[in-house]
Amino acid sequence: MADPDLDLLQTALKRRWSRGPSQKAKPYVHAFSAAERRGTKITAKVVGNHGTYTVSIQGDTQGVTSACSCYIGKHGHCHHCEALAITFLDDPSAFKIIKLKQAKEVHDLTDVRAYLDSVTWNHTRLRTDRCVVLLRNWLQGYEVFPWELSRFLPTYRVWY
Ligand SMILES: [Zn+2]
Repeated sequence: MADPDLDLLQTALKRRWSRGPSQKAKPYVHAFSAAERRGTKITAKVVGNHGTYTVSIQGDTQGVTSACSCYIGKHGHCHHCEALAITFLDDPSAFKIIKLKQAKEVHDLTDVRAYLDSVTWNHTRLRTDRCVVLLRNWLQGYEVFPWELSRFLPTYRVWY
């Protein structure tokens, strides 16, 4: 079955990580757990030198946005992100597909977290830089604050 999200993500990943795994990334390829895909975003966990890291990559038509919780991975320029991309390109079926939640389906805080999982960086309402930066910080932990996201998110005006 055609899956435009999958196509878009694979194209973006190939463009960003066009060469085979670097020496540093190699040990992490296929070493991920909790591998999931939501639309054009993949997330997974991997055990590194200083604990378990959460790694995520979002693809869009402009390229990729990646992040990792390791100490050099904040902006996604680490070998865990590279390894995640290569792992996914090698076997996308190993990533569990999580259905995206629509804003209109959000009724409580659990839904808010599920919804945040599905928010893409190029979401039209999140275009301004400030919103994107705040959302990104937000997504690090999903603690769900800024007034519980304006009481379950009718709009995103809370982020400034
Ligand atoms: Zn990392």
